[in-house]
Amino acid sequence: RNLKKYFPITAGLLRRTVGHVKAVDDVSFTVKAGETLGIVGESGCGKSTTGRMIMRVLEPTSGQIVFDGQDITKLHGKELRAVRPKFQMVFQDPYASLNPKMGIEEIIAEPLIVNGVSRKQATERVVHLLERVGLRAEDRHRYPHEFSGGQRQRIGIARALALNPKLIVADEAVSALDVSIQSQILNLMMDLKKEFNLSYIFISHNLAVVRHISDRVGVMYLGHMVELADKRSLYANPRHPYTEALLSAAPEPKRQGRRERIILQGDVPSPANPPKGCPFHTRCPKVMDVCKVERPALKEVAPNHLVACHLYS
Ligand code: SF4
Ligand code: MG
Repeated sequence: RNLKKYFPITAGLLRRTVGHVKAVDDVSFTVKAGETLGIVGESGCGKSTTGRMIMRVLEPTSGQIVFDGQDITKLHGKELRAVRPKFQMVFQDPYASLNPKMGIEEIIAEPLIVNGVSRKQATERVVHLLERVGLRAEDRHRYPHEFSGGQRQRIGIARALALNPKLIVADEAVSALDVSIQSQILNLMMDLKKEFNLSYIFISHNLAVVRHISDRVGVMYLGHMVELADKRSLYANPRHPYTEALLSAAPEPKRQGRRERIILQGDVPSPANPPKGCPFHTRCPKVMDVCKVERPALKEVAPNHLVACHLYS
């Protein structure tokens, strides 16, 4: 709710604060149990920062994170450790997130051992998880470098599942993989979601990947959520001019009529000096006078379809 993350910009020897990078600027949304919410946007739009705040690995500047009815924004120490197992993260580069000196069993069992599970039970759980993610029980005796990128991502997923989480935040979880491997991992994640009763926040710059896995999709631009809708509605009928441009530039699945390509002028403005009014007004093909002074709020313009744009007010 109303999540913000402003990073201070400092200057001089005294590191005086001279401004702020508004990485995330007032973002609100919900994720339902059993749902996959995709968050899509270009690099620097604030999607990873949003995910990391929800995981409580990055302190929000302001706003609230409510998990299963509990405000977890201010939890620390023991209280935070008590809820931690319920949310886990899967990263882009499984190699960087797996300790190369640790065997697979240790990597997957570590969160279990830390949480007081016995060695024997932990091993049983590791074997079960390895099989569930499409690897073999004996793979637990091997090391990360002995696996392919796709297999390493399976290991990362097994580790994330070890403590029976309810929510997984996946940040560019398949972006480093070959396209053929990407769909295997996405399908695996969709199967595991059902089996383990998971919810996902699936963060990616890749519109096709987000379309494949998500139930609802949020589009971020320059620290703002500019459109949030059911997947079908968003892809068939994008309403925000930025979403329209993004979709027009993405390769379309065959059967659908081709959209005319919308070429956006200029670059994304710096989040240290964002435009007043609508964050997209400097590049919007449909900009109006009001857009330069007033920030449009995210509003429902059709059932379950929210847009932040003055065209709909
Ligand atoms: Fe474009 Fe104005 Fe809508 Fe922003 S509010 S997306 S500038 S039309
Ligand atoms: Mg990112």
